[in-house]
Amino acid sequence: MTRPAPAIVILGNGSLATARKIQQVYPGALIHGLVGRVEGADRDYHEFGANLRELYQQDSPIIALCAAGIVIRTLAPLLLEKGAEPPVLAVAEDGSAVVPLLGGLGGVNVMAREIAAGLQVAAAITTSGELRFGTCLLNPPSGYTLGDLELGKRFVSDLLAGHSVRVEGNAPWLDQAQLPEDPAALRSIHVGSAAREARADELLIYPRSVAVAVSTGVVDVPQAIRAALQQANVAVQSVACLLAADDQMANPTLREAALELGVPLRFVAPAVDIGALARSAVPGATVEVPLDNIAIAIADQPLQVAQIGRARGRLAVIGLGPGAAELMVPAVKAELARATDVLGYETYVRMAGPFRADQVLHCTDNREEMQRARHAFELAAQGRSVIVVSSGDPGVFAMAAAVLEALHESSDPAWHNVDLEILPGVSASLATAAQAGAPLGHDFCVMSLSDNLKPWSIIEKRLDLAAEADLALAFYNPISRSRPWQLGRALEIVARHRIAETPVVLGRDIGRPGQTLRVTTLGALTPDQVDMRTMVLIGSSTTCVFPRADGGEWVYTPRWYGDKPAT
Ligand code: SAH
Repeated sequence: MTRPAPAIVILGNGSLATARKIQQVYPGALIHGLVGRVEGADRDYHEFGANLRELYQQDSPIIALCAAGIVIRTLAPLLLEKGAEPPVLAVAEDGSAVVPLLGGLGGVNVMAREIAAGLQVAAAITTSGELRFGTCLLNPPSGYTLGDLELGKRFVSDLLAGHSVRVEGNAPWLDQAQLPEDPAALRSIHVGSAAREARADELLIYPRSVAVAVSTGVVDVPQAIRAALQQANVAVQSVACLLAADDQMANPTLREAALELGVPLRFVAPAVDIGALARSAVPGATVEVPLDNIAIAIADQPLQVAQIGRARGRLAVIGLGPGAAELMVPAVKAELARATDVLGYETYVRMAGPFRADQVLHCTDNREEMQRARHAFELAAQGRSVIVVSSGDPGVFAMAAAVLEALHESSDPAWHNVDLEILPGVSASLATAAQAGAPLGHDFCVMSLSDNLKPWSIIEKRLDLAAEADLALAFYNPISRSRPWQLGRALEIVARHRIAETPVVLGRDIGRPGQTLRVTTLGALTPDQVDMRTMVLIGSSTTCVFPRADGGEWVYTPRWYGDKPAT
């Protein structure tokens, strides 16, 4: 799995210049600044500890511009947990010191050297093996993977204790290393894709040089792959990717097998048989077909997986929530990090950013929804990882339904094969309700007052029936310049069924800068108090209001109806 870009975390404006220099070393890195202390950061955070721990748990490399001790104390509670250990570094605010702290196997020393070079200082490397040999033997470069970490640690301490070593197989990155080499050495570093017994006198490093092609009809795919590899005497650690014909793109069995084996899944055009498919995907490789339906292509170099066939495209329709970063669900944050293309109304695409230079933004007008949905499928069908952005929840008067409509109308198998997922967000009605208390604490009805895509008569009918049914009401799209009179008419209909004292909540730009929350009543509400950035919540007959200690008011609709139950 690829790591996210590093996060450069700073506590004050004094670190900004150093942070920017480090950003030149890692153009994808974002500067995280403490709210109120840092101006002009790429991302704001409110609490240093919570932000750092969240980054760590998301496996994000961390470059913290502060004292090493602060970082250690902050992350200490997480260190005993197994799981991600991304590189973590402390860098002096003025850029005079670079200290790698954690993530030795994640390449922290490599990063320390890169950052130190960018700042023109020396990195404070403390790893003995690395200092002695000029490379971390336990962290081979991408395209290679270590056989066994525990045996590896013992092996490195043996070398540090004075034992000599020989290198078997092709290990180009060790050409520059200063190893105590001796052709007659007892200990060896063995690089190869064959299956091998782990031994203490051998450091096994597998090149990811094998692709496994699978055709239909295999029952337990991971099990069958393991059996085929065993027959061909190929190490499972050498598998770089699974291969299948592109008419199998939506096959869930293959997807699960790739997940279980922890390798990507690539698709190529169907071929006469599985051996031919493997040969077409990895030209020049040795191909073995140990089992019907499974072919193994063994190359003599690590495979460039991104250049083999193509990936199944992905399309995620995401909800940003109302605006504030804390109200965005973590699945959406992760999706934003992996996207290659981002589509949406410009305001929302901006709100979802900042993006890396390699991410393509396709901003469109708010009204071109079907066109945007089709464009998203065209991109995803090429194998890209596409996001369509909505504010709030994508399923609430937003892009998810448009995307599904576009798919429903299409007979293109490439569109139907796209890995489509809808990721929810906090909708404006819920974000507004939470700030006011619990006005939607009992049954409620959600409506858009826009008659752009539905006749006004149906809106009137639904309003009338929902108000009669004594549901609390949440109005999206309450008013706009082109729809000036509709809200007034809607309020007249509601007033037929509700008293003038009925509580009303108006939330404007909730979760965004300059947000306002007003509590009023149905009798006092006039359309000029509302605009298109406002959420209107109207209580039911049981909704009540009482003062808050801070001077405001709480609004809630009790969970019961009729007589209050005995407690
Ligand atoms: N998908 C969005 C709604 C889109 S419709 C969601 O789930 O929230 C747009 C309407 O939503 C606006 O006219 C306004 O009524 C409401 N809205 C969206 N964001 C809002 C916010 N931050 N504060 C108040 N109302 C908002």
